[in-house]
Amino acid sequence: MSEMNKKAIVMLSGGLDSTLAAKLMLEQGIECIGINFVSIFCTCTSRKKKEAGCASEALKIGKELGISVHTFPKGMDYFAVVQNPKYGYGKGMNPCIDCRIYILKKAKALMSEYGASFIVTGEVLGQRPMSQQRHQLNIIEKQTGLKGLILRPLSAHLLPETIPEQAGIVDRTKLLNISGRSRKQQIELAESSGITDYPCAAGGCLLTDKIFAQKLKDLFVHKKNYTMIDLKLLKIGRHFRINENTKIILGRDQSENMMIESLASCYTLFRPADIPGPTAAVDGELNDEVMSELMKLMLRYSDSTNETTIKLLKSGKSTRTFTGCSIKNRG
Ligand code: SF4
Repeated sequence: MSEMNKKAIVMLSGGLDSTLAAKLMLEQGIECIGINFVSIFCTCTSRKKKEAGCASEALKIGKELGISVHTFPKGMDYFAVVQNPKYGYGKGMNPCIDCRIYILKKAKALMSEYGASFIVTGEVLGQRPMSQQRHQLNIIEKQTGLKGLILRPLSAHLLPETIPEQAGIVDRTKLLNISGRSRKQQIELAESSGITDYPCAAGGCLLTDKIFAQKLKDLFVHKKNYTMIDLKLLKIGRHFRINENTKIILGRDQSENMMIESLASCYTLFRPADIPGPTAAVDGELNDEVMSELMKLMLRYSDSTNETTIKLLKSGKSTRTFTGCSIKNRG
């Protein structure tokens, strides 16, 4: 680790709190290097226009603050953390303590590369129930081996003095004592600092969404060697578990149908032959039970209200037509 100096890594999420934390450091003449982690679970990187998302927000904020920002993807090693978190989940499948440990360990590994001697975060004591309570901050420091090296400027007065403060690198008297879930003080501070645009203020993580969490859990339970494509597909369509080995995904609209077609080339794809309806991706074995369920689902979610049977086209190397399914009650 580097000697104590006036250079810090700032965990820049693209939200308001980390922006304010960086600003407080810059005002003290600390050289800041922003780092930003993105994952497929960030809601603001999901279905928005290309230039949207936390990463681009962090880059934009970096530009405004005049600091460099480096973006890193959370890779497959992160999914292993999500699957087996040491400190458990929040209300969904959000392993917040383990997630913080994961990114702070990555940040720690970057400290020597960037010549930084401590890490700055926008964390606010008590703001998030799963990762920002005092005992959780202690666990995170202990598990990352960063005791005394994580400075949280917004709550600093409520927390033990850090090494950069003790060393006189950072002036503790200029740090703050914000705590709790109200964002009033941060918003006032933003206004007085001329910060007006902070779209990711609340942060967005699909892992906290209970419905998404069910789909993710189902994937973890049923597919040992899941891939990034399996994970990406969790964000699209209606998902139906047919049996232990087979799942069907149906697009909910034209854009999802197109996404399924482009993403799920390793699944078996179907679409209705004669009526408008969803694209289906089947992951698993195509036996009679599965085909029967597939046709029922396709009929149920097709745009036609009169049909009681459906013909399906199977795409891939060959195109086969499946006909069947008489459903009187479409449910
Ligand atoms: S909400 Fe999501 S991104 Fe944020 S700490 Fe929890 S798991 Fe990580």
